Amino acid sequence: MNFNNLQQLVDRRGKLKSKGTYSKRTKTITHRVWHHSLTKKNLAGSDAESFADYHVNTLGWPGVGYTFIIEPKNLINTPNGKRARIVYANDIDRRTYHVGNSNQFSLGICVAGDYRYDTMDEATLASIAELHAALVKDGIGKYDKAHNEMPGYSWKACCQYNYRDAFDWKGSKTPVKPQPAPDVYTIQEGDTLWSIAHKDGTGGVQVEDLINANPGIDPTKLQIGQKINFGNAKEVIVQPDNDNKDETKPSNSGDAIINSIQKTLNSRYKFDLVVDGFNGPKTKSALIKALQTELNKQFNKKLVVDGKWGAKTNAAIVIVQKGAKGNLTWVLQAALYTEGYNPGSLDSIFGKGTETALSKFQKDKKITADNKAGKATFTKLFAA
Ligand SMILES: [Zn+2]
Repeated sequence: MNFNNLQQLVDRRGKLKSKGTYSKRTKTITHRVWHHSLTKKNLAGSDAESFADYHVNTLGWPGVGYTFIIEPKNLINTPNGKRARIVYANDIDRRTYHVGNSNQFSLGICVAGDYRYDTMDEATLASIAELHAALVKDGIGKYDKAHNEMPGYSWKACCQYNYRDAFDWKGSKTPVKPQPAPDVYTIQEGDTLWSIAHKDGTGGVQVEDLINANPGIDPTKLQIGQKINFGNAKEVIVQPDNDNKDETKPSNSGDAIINSIQKTLNSRYKFDLVVDGFNGPKTKSALIKALQTELNKQFNKKLVVDGKWGAKTNAAIVIVQKGAKGNLTWVLQAALYTEGYNPGSLDSIFGKGTETALSKFQKDKKITADNKAGKATFTKLFAA
């Protein structure tokens, strides 16, 4: 690997603060995503060590959210001149948290500094350029994107430096300002959600994002000229950016599937869950509300939709079993996933994957493993 041979690179994998490990990527890296830390570059806390502490202790992540961190305040003398230190923080093949639903295929690179105010020095520009060139040679990623060019992040002030310019720090190319990912897309001939998701310039948007962002559309009946929502920026809860840290808002981070569960709950039931990818009591309660809503709608039960598991909800449960399709099956799939039993896909269809996850859950919880989700199963899933 060429990047390993950079003189200014220090390997700190396994040495920074961590709590557990990030899981392995299930997708090839296609995107190199550039961040800044929004901490002034000369501050004591503007380094890999501090970001790791913050991500682990405050955000509760398994480790620092980037693969590489460039530190302008730590200079290394190399035969080519002074360079900002590059910390290799997580294995390339680990899916760290930095761009929510796009984590699986995105490599996170953070340049310490707040480039709304800081200016970039030569040693830092050189490290960006050399790391970029090495990654290109190594075939790690195909596209470069600023954090706010990724779907769902057009609101984010990250990164605030012209990363494309930095790749040519010796200065030959015309600077190109990063463009935020588009919010609306116009359907062209031959488009499918899949083909749209795989176009260049769409920042790696996922088919699932498109479906979530366009609750009303029928993916099989796209019309040329039709406009669809592209990102989910408007669903993300944006807090005032007064905390001076880039990744302080774990919104749209954490586990990608939990993230999509939260988004679906919000769009389908008009809840206002924070979409943060973390499974907690609010997500669980929202799933109970979804269940109560579906029981009322589909089976004319007259439950109070309060998100609490109680005797009345328990009594209203209907059996969900193989071959079932629809929102109740989805609730079952989502609940199984949040309990650590992955049904494979949250496709609202009770198939093999759901059956396997359910039967494992039933065995572990010592309830009759009959592959049917009834009162006992839902009680184990939802009772506190
Ligand atoms: Zn960022």
